[in-house]
Amino acid sequence: MLKLIFNILGVLTLTHAPFSYTATPMPNPDQALQMLVEGNTHFVNNENVHRSYLEEAKDAMLQKQTPIAAIVGCSDSRVPPELIFDRGLGELFVVRDAGNVIGPIEMDSVEFAVISLKVPLVIVMGHQNCGAVGAALLGRKNVPELDNIYPLLDQALKKCNSKGTDVLINAIECNVKMGVATLKNSPSIAPLLKENKVKIVGAYYEMTSGKVTLIE
Ligand SMILES: [Zn+2]
Repeated sequence: MLKLIFNILGVLTLTHAPFSYTATPMPNPDQALQMLVEGNTHFVNNENVHRSYLEEAKDAMLQKQTPIAAIVGCSDSRVPPELIFDRGLGELFVVRDAGNVIGPIEMDSVEFAVISLKVPLVIVMGHQNCGAVGAALLGRKNVPELDNIYPLLDQALKKCNSKGTDVLINAIECNVKMGVATLKNSPSIAPLLKENKVKIVGAYYEMTSGKVTLIE
């Protein structure tokens, strides 16, 4: 088993420079969120700084991983978290499935990231025009293969109150909120939330602008 080294929380200077895999202390939850918000701004402005992924991390990666956040996102090929948040190798622990739902396997993966890897931040991220959520909304039309995913999407949509806005966007946000609530109810994560050692937030990725917006 890999020996995990836990960094002491410290003041983090946010700069435009890439995250240094070995030298930067583990950020606290708010600092980690700020780093990802800043990385998304790079992405939106076409100013990503992570170009040479292997060169910046190849030696340190052999010893351990110290991701600063876990992302639960959709498998959709248009929403790669590392690019969207401008992060390098070893910085994001990513869990993806069609529709970014939280089933037992996704829950185990996030718990591993929070408990064993000590990630200070978890983001559940839905995205514009999500085909899985759209298919669930349309009564599973034309996409029969998501039969293990639909029950989880249906559960989220059942609790979804139509706000009179875009029905699909509303459903995507409901699904994200349900994912956040499910993770917050994890018996192993809940105590760490109370101690402010981890933050779990929802987000929506707009493909047309590249912008990630936090969902309250
Ligand atoms: Zn999707």
